[in-house]
Formats: sequence, structure tokens, C-alpha cells
Amino acid sequence: MAVAFHDEIELEDFEYDEETETYYYPCPCGDRFEILKDDLYNGEEVATCPSCSLIIKVLIFLLFELKKQPVFEMILPFRQI
Ligand SMILES: [Zn+2]
Repeated sequence: MAVAFHDEIELEDFEYDEETETYYYPCPCGDRFEILKDDLYNGEEVATCPSCSLIIKVLIFLLFELKKQPVFEMILPFRQI
């Protein structure tokens, strides 16, 4: 089953909302792609838009995340790629 990503976006280009613990990125449809922080920790890397069918792949760079989210230090080494 082939998955067609609309784009691949670095996590640092997402906007993080601390209240909802969700990362957002603008979607061409006018809404926003979203992915929960917990989903990222669980290895999820697909952000979805609630208003259209587009999906994007989230690219995670360890160094950046280690600075902002120390918990990644524990999670990422065990993440299955
Ligand atoms: Zn959309």
C-alpha cells in the first residue's frame, strides 16, 4: 500500500501549541495539519489535516528535539524506523 505524502516537513517548522500538546503546520486548504506530541513519542510521523485528505510526513531531527523536549532522549533510541 503506497502512501502519498503531500510534503515532508521538519518538526521545527511546525508550530507547537502547549495547551493542546499538538504540533500544527499550515495546510494549503486553509486549515492546519496536526499531530499530537504523544503520537510523535509513540513513533507516529504522519500529520493529518482535519478538513481535507492531505497528509504530510514529519521529519524529526534529534538534536533539535533534545533541546526542547528532554523526554525524546529516552524515547527516540528505541524508536523503530
Ligand atoms: Zn487541509
